[in-house]
Amino acid sequence: MIFDTHAHYDDQAFDEDREELLAQMEPSGIGGIVNVGASLRGIKASQELAEKYPFIYAAVGVHPDEVGALDEERLMWMYELCRRPKTVAVGEIGLDYYWDKEARGLQKQWFIRQLEMAKETGLAVNVHSREAAQDTFDIIKEHHAGTTGGIIHCFSSSAELAMEYIKLGYYIGVGGVVTFKNARVLKEVVEKIPLERIVVETDCPYLAPAPNRGKRNSSLYLPLVIGQIAQLKGITVQEAEAATCENALRVYNRIRQ
Ligand SMILES: [Zn+2]
Repeated sequence: MIFDTHAHYDDQAFDEDREELLAQMEPSGIGGIVNVGASLRGIKASQELAEKYPFIYAAVGVHPDEVGALDEERLMWMYELCRRPKTVAVGEIGLDYYWDKEARGLQKQWFIRQLEMAKETGLAVNVHSREAAQDTFDIIKEHHAGTTGGIIHCFSSSAELAMEYIKLGYYIGVGGVVTFKNARVLKEVVEKIPLERIVVETDCPYLAPAPNRGKRNSSLYLPLVIGQIAQLKGITVQEAEAATCENALRVYNRIRQ
């Protein structure tokens, strides 16, 4: 079974055919999907999808671009949602210095508050980091390491940094980018880190793998990502699929409870 650790099926890109598309998942071997919140609206929509589909789980979190919308009351609402049985992670949370939509101080403050929410509610985290590698690592090390663990989503740094995260108990999220011709560094990351620490993700509707690059992405394309991981690791596709699924269930451990 294939497990998609990071998707956005609430995105408007799926408005026209969401039901038909999601009906194809289980027959195609996609046995689990975590729909990740990014905005307050996305958090709500993720809960609704998780209520409707047995194989969809929800993550609760606000993306660094959206943290200006947060306040104490909304944080309390998120805490409540974290205690629901189908919520399996806090995310996506982190830092984005590429878009820099919110002041960096504010991004850091809400990243830390949401890491604390994950600890207090016993949930793994799903971390977004763009052009902010060092600050993201430093905050995780200081505020979250050795607690509930999580996934560094759409990992885009060096193999050395990946190993540092793994030492702290984290998993590395690998998606469509690994199939791109110019993804030399990410391919090297996959080669060097232990298979036991790799999970797959779509981040759909974005980042469709080759040869569908630029198209709308969905979990149905994950075999392309798993095929690339298998090739880089010198293992069979079945082995790569089984390992990445097992890893996902280990990090999102509430699914088995
Ligand atoms: Zn995402």
